[in-house]
Amino acid sequence: MKLHLRGIVLLVLFAVFGLSSAQAQPAIQPTVDITQVPVAAQPSEHFNADAATEAYMAMIPPAATARSNAYFEGGYWLIFWDFLYASAICLLLLNLRWSAKMRDLAERITRFKWLQDALYWGQYLLLTSLLGFPLEFYEGYVREHKYGLATQSFWPWMGDEGKGLLLGLIFGALAVMLLFAIVRRLSRSWWIWGTVAMTGLLIVQVAIGPVFIQPIFNKVTRLNDPKITVPILRMAHANGIPTNDVYQTDASRQTTRMSANVSGFSNTMRITLNDNLLRRGSPEEIQAVMGHEMGHYVMNHIPKTIFFLAVVYLFFFAGLFWGLQWALKHWGERWQIRGVGDPAVLPLVFLLGGIFFFMLTPVTNTEIRMHEKEADMFGLNAARQPDGFAQAAIHLSEYRKMRPGKWEERIFFDHPSGYDRIHSSMVWKGENLELFEKAHEQPTMLTPAAH
Ligand SMILES: [Zn+2]
Repeated sequence: MKLHLRGIVLLVLFAVFGLSSAQAQPAIQPTVDITQVPVAAQPSEHFNADAATEAYMAMIPPAATARSNAYFEGGYWLIFWDFLYASAICLLLLNLRWSAKMRDLAERITRFKWLQDALYWGQYLLLTSLLGFPLEFYEGYVREHKYGLATQSFWPWMGDEGKGLLLGLIFGALAVMLLFAIVRRLSRSWWIWGTVAMTGLLIVQVAIGPVFIQPIFNKVTRLNDPKITVPILRMAHANGIPTNDVYQTDASRQTTRMSANVSGFSNTMRITLNDNLLRRGSPEEIQAVMGHEMGHYVMNHIPKTIFFLAVVYLFFFAGLFWGLQWALKHWGERWQIRGVGDPAVLPLVFLLGGIFFFMLTPVTNTEIRMHEKEADMFGLNAARQPDGFAQAAIHLSEYRKMRPGKWEERIFFDHPSGYDRIHSSMVWKGENLELFEKAHEQPTMLTPAAH
């Protein structure tokens, strides 16, 4: 085991230093000017949503489209490579009996079962993180820099990876201890109680996320620029959101992506904008994006998604109940795994989980995409900024493919495509032209961003 590990460490060091030297290129900053509402999208008797959409689409230079298509389509392959790579690691740990050896070591250190589970988890996470590092490094660092989306140099990026690892050690250990305790005590019904426990853990994780987890990676502050907060809070109050705060996060520490989100559960639920959106978005665009986020809030998309995942977990644990028995009957002895209550079974759990969630990708994407579509429609109605929303869709095209095929969208997209978002905006605008025609004050110019 030592020899193998040394080889892996050398490989990782080679990958880090070999590849990081190729990273000196400057970030590609997109330069699409989208402050002008295109002529075909301005209110007129001949307003046509399709033509208005095409006029917006035509604002994106072909080179930018090619770049974001390549980035996004590469993401499809990464889903596949991530799956294969993770599966290979699991099979390696089982077949070389490294998993059994980690369990043996944990048993030599302590006689307490729950502590053995935690010690096993520590070894498991460190080893799989090390083995998975080359792909993680390519995906999270090299590729993000290549497409001009990353702002972090290597060591700050590694710092964030380290924080993530530490959180994984703590929260993962708690989850593993809880789940194995359930499996060992309830040999017939653990799949039901496992689902309950996993859902409980998910709720805790979502609830503490914005308050305890996010601040570990980014500075989260209350936004206090009245020019931005006043229209947002008015929109919030008009739509039954009882908040007086909007939060901002310094996402520019890691990325050039513009985004905003709703996070938390119950008392910790809140809307956060990232500083890239604040810096580069026009007020109309910020309002359009906030209208969308408020849609998630008002329509309870977080609790609904938790419920959806609870159902998914139930299927997963039921499948696991049978899958583990079947696999252990065939290979348990060879892998030196004593049963489902033995922590050494974990690579097998992750292998089966990987297969299950990989196959489920289109389903989970579709569940999220349906919520996103609802939020889009809510946002158009709440913010009444169709041009701002079209502008946001174009900004997001820096990292999302704008015009996918029908099935491509259904399988791989967890948001409506940029084309769909602009088209919805223009259909909405076409049905509400009177809002934009008043006294010839219609905005043919979106307010340029502050900087
Ligand atoms: Zn959304």
